[in-house]
Amino acid sequence: MASGSTSDNQRRAIHTILKQYWGFESFRPLQEDIILSVLSGRDTLALMPTGGGKSLCYQVPALTREGMCLVISPLIALMKDQVENLRKRNITAYAIYSGMTRQEVIHTLKTVINSNCRFLYVSPERLETALFKEYLPGMHVNLVAVDEAHCISQWGYDFRPPYLRIAALREELPGIPVLALTASATKEVQDDICNKLTYLPSNPNKNSLHDWKVFRQSFERANLSYSVFKVDSRINKIIEILSKVPGSGIVYCKSRRRTKEISELLQLQNISADFYHAGLGQQERSRKQEEWIANTTRVIVCTNAFGMGIDKPDVRTVIHADVPDCLENYYQEAGRAGRDGKRSYAVLLYDEHELRELEQLPSLRFPSLDDIKQVYQSIANYLRVPAGDGEGQYFDFDISDFLKKFKLNSYTVLYALKALEQEGWLSFNEQVFLPARVNFTTGKNQLYEFEKNYPLLEPVIKTLLRAYEGIFDYPSPISEMMIARLLREDVEKVKEQLRQLNQYGIIEYQQQKDTPQLFFLKSRSRVEDLSINKPGYAARKEKLASRIREMIQFIGTTNQCRSKMIGVYFGDESMNDCGICDNCLRKKNISLTQEEFDDIHNSIVATLQNRSLRAKELLSALGSIKKEKAWKVIEFLQAENKIEMDESGKINLSSARP
Ligand code: ADP
Ligand code: MG
Repeated sequence: MASGSTSDNQRRAIHTILKQYWGFESFRPLQEDIILSVLSGRDTLALMPTGGGKSLCYQVPALTREGMCLVISPLIALMKDQVENLRKRNITAYAIYSGMTRQEVIHTLKTVINSNCRFLYVSPERLETALFKEYLPGMHVNLVAVDEAHCISQWGYDFRPPYLRIAALREELPGIPVLALTASATKEVQDDICNKLTYLPSNPNKNSLHDWKVFRQSFERANLSYSVFKVDSRINKIIEILSKVPGSGIVYCKSRRRTKEISELLQLQNISADFYHAGLGQQERSRKQEEWIANTTRVIVCTNAFGMGIDKPDVRTVIHADVPDCLENYYQEAGRAGRDGKRSYAVLLYDEHELRELEQLPSLRFPSLDDIKQVYQSIANYLRVPAGDGEGQYFDFDISDFLKKFKLNSYTVLYALKALEQEGWLSFNEQVFLPARVNFTTGKNQLYEFEKNYPLLEPVIKTLLRAYEGIFDYPSPISEMMIARLLREDVEKVKEQLRQLNQYGIIEYQQQKDTPQLFFLKSRSRVEDLSINKPGYAARKEKLASRIREMIQFIGTTNQCRSKMIGVYFGDESMNDCGICDNCLRKKNISLTQEEFDDIHNSIVATLQNRSLRAKELLSALGSIKKEKAWKVIEFLQAENKIEMDESGKINLSSARP
């Protein structure tokens, strides 16, 4: 009785919050169960497809209680989005991520503690810093949410070692439940997530898996039709599909160059298309993305850099022009079609050559230790970082210039960097960009004098001081755009004035960096001392090989429901045939009633009386009978030895026939 009414109260409370802050009337499937589980204090793992509404699963329960929710999230862009979204709803939220200066971090942490902060987003690298630990006891944490939780598993497709630090955090927060969220994780990865997040150094025997409650949304997408085509000409097939299926589309490609090529070829066919990849500037990317979301551009041809955090309901087709390297990615990317529940198509194109290439991928992605060492040494030379130096520093890293100077293979470098990142040596992220920063380098009196002498620069100084509290005392990230807006000035003019102030020594002005940044996690080691965990490295390589085998098998399988195959891959054995994928349709077309079978059987026997025919001739002699159905009966009769094929390829009735 008592517990019943508690949970009724909780139900009411969470509905009120949903309505009050988001204006939504009801929860989506599983959201309520997940929230109630969290509120009961259980560690919970939630598997829901992208766009399924995972954020609310931690945001709502955290808001029912005093205190704040600590959200661990790997991507700066997503973090910023979330913080902005919460602030729009008048919920106090902050974020701490790589790229912020120490002063900025301190400032944010202080604000978090002294304000009614409800959500703090933190990138995993930041968790174990002394600074964070110093402030943690001052935070009244009521829930820890781990977004993209598959990143904690080295068996997953996107392992990020800093995620392993989350477990240690739990020691500092005894009794606080953890909610782990991910869109796709195999059974093995699900178990690994629970294990890794429970393991406490002080209590290694704790039997973790029993304590977890796991919620998994079905992988069924009733309105999404999967199909796979082997093609000679990708572009022709893409044009064919886009001509048949109207509406918004995404074409995923492996290479940046190809996105542009395909987009141009589509334009030649009068299909509205644009291309997108991470090599484009921030502004250009936002523009292209917005135009696509607004349906000004119909088709976006992109690399897999596109789509994170995008919530466009009316995508009708997702075409993969190249084979993705695992089903996790495929499922997520294909799943961007048809969020509105209307019929949509996920089409995967491939050729044999590509599959053979894919099989080579593990050797490419996991370079040898010697290669890794060579790359590390070259980077240190290129950036002029002496041994023992560099820890915690950012460097501009122009990878193409680097490749040119050192004449290294670009793949080897890319994957050696990845290995070095996973082993905790350095981190390279093209997405990291540092905002512009300003730091006053004068005293108040000098500033006053300066303003008197340079009245033209006075407005910009005043605006800086007014818009950025504390800017006089420590370096602060600023937005030139916002200052320009406040001053009703052109942004280029504002930048020019900031540069002048910089030259006069009034401020230190660092412009926004679009160049990719390389970050030394540890000080530079001598190559001899560079260590990597060899068994772990080898195991991850094998894991990739097995994921690729699964992908290739998915492509090659023609007699099983594709949706079901995906479900089974993620550990859901309970799914029914979708009835709309290529394989289901093929099956439907050729499923025969007993009467049909008998009719076709009789026709074949009659047609082959006293003569033998080639398969093609036989099929056309059967007239109106569907080819697939006829084939099915022919195969059956052949298997039963009732008909046979001679050396010249002609089919005749078996002499052994009784
Ligand atoms: P995920 O993290 O699972 O990819 P998000 O949490 O970003 O998904 O949510 C995707 C979208 O769904 C958001 O725009 C969110 O506002 C919306 N949404 C989530 N839950 C509900 C709900 N119960 N009712 C209506 N819209 C919802
Ligand atoms: Mg999310």
